[in-house]
Amino acid sequence: MPTLREVGEFEAIRRVLAARPAAAGVVVGGGDDAAVLRLDPARELVVTTDAFVEDRHWRAGLIEPETIGARLAAANLSDLAAMAARPRWALVSAGLRPDHDLDALLALDAGLARALAAHGAATVGGNFAAVEGAEWLSLTLLGDCAAGRAWTRAGARAGDLIAVTGSPGRAAGGLSLLQRHGVPAGETWWSALAAAWLAPPARIEFARNAAETEAVAAAIDISDGFAADLARLCEASRVGAEIAAAEWPQDPLLDRAAAEIGAEPRALRFAASDDYELVLAVRSGLRGALEAAARALGVPLAFVGRFVAAEGVFEVGADGARRPLPREGWDHFARSSRKTAVPPSR
Ligand SMILES: [Mg+2]
Repeated sequence: MPTLREVGEFEAIRRVLAARPAAAGVVVGGGDDAAVLRLDPARELVVTTDAFVEDRHWRAGLIEPETIGARLAAANLSDLAAMAARPRWALVSAGLRPDHDLDALLALDAGLARALAAHGAATVGGNFAAVEGAEWLSLTLLGDCAAGRAWTRAGARAGDLIAVTGSPGRAAGGLSLLQRHGVPAGETWWSALAAAWLAPPARIEFARNAAETEAVAAAIDISDGFAADLARLCEASRVGAEIAAAEWPQDPLLDRAAAEIGAEPRALRFAASDDYELVLAVRSGLRGALEAAARALGVPLAFVGRFVAAEGVFEVGADGARRPLPREGWDHFARSSRKTAVPPSR
């Protein structure tokens, strides 16, 4: 198990490139000065980037290198899902200490490659730099979509329905349990929660099929918490939102996790980060078409409220009382981020 210092930069790059799968649409791939990619003239390029920093986004020893790679892919794939784009090509840069193990780097890159390949994308280039302190990773993901058809955060109107995939809060619940107990050796009652954090689903295929229904007027992915990201969509669309408490999907596993980690279930559900699920504004007349698209792929989809003309994001109880959603999502620079109910992973 040689370190990067022992093999040197160029051998490390040669080993990483040799292990990478080929990608479609690549005229010149990794190993040259730049990649050359073939674009379809009827489509638009959709581009996103996300960086992970050691001890903020991952902790050595808690998770395997493959998982770090897969989560880095998921963070970027989720942004393309929120635009209903098709992922194509990735560029990855990393700041690594010279004592970084070569096999661990290959495992990280393999985890990244597998997660990208599951949605038709591959890495076509990148760069390594040596660091002394915390290591970091940065992925840029390029995708495409039919010209003029990308979803955005703007476009929701009063009367549109609010839909959400999955069960927000599960990833943060899983992370808290992972921090307490480590990665479970076998099946446990919280395996599904651990999986939500270790291997977040990317809703790419669902988003692309959902785009075909034309039911979706606006979208955002939940990376910083349901309430915080819903508020961003509302701001971009200049609408407010009312969540119907009674319509929120029951999740006994999440409730059990909340009890075990001493968090309020409501805080976990609305304010915890890292789920990479989608929040959608749905034209009410096309709800059935969207439900059919979700059912066909086995994607959990819940309708949890509606957009309204009045500003603000509220939860409406069974008794009709309105209260603001807890919305302390993750903010990289705000002091208040330390007050989140669940310790964030970053
Ligand atoms: Mg996003």
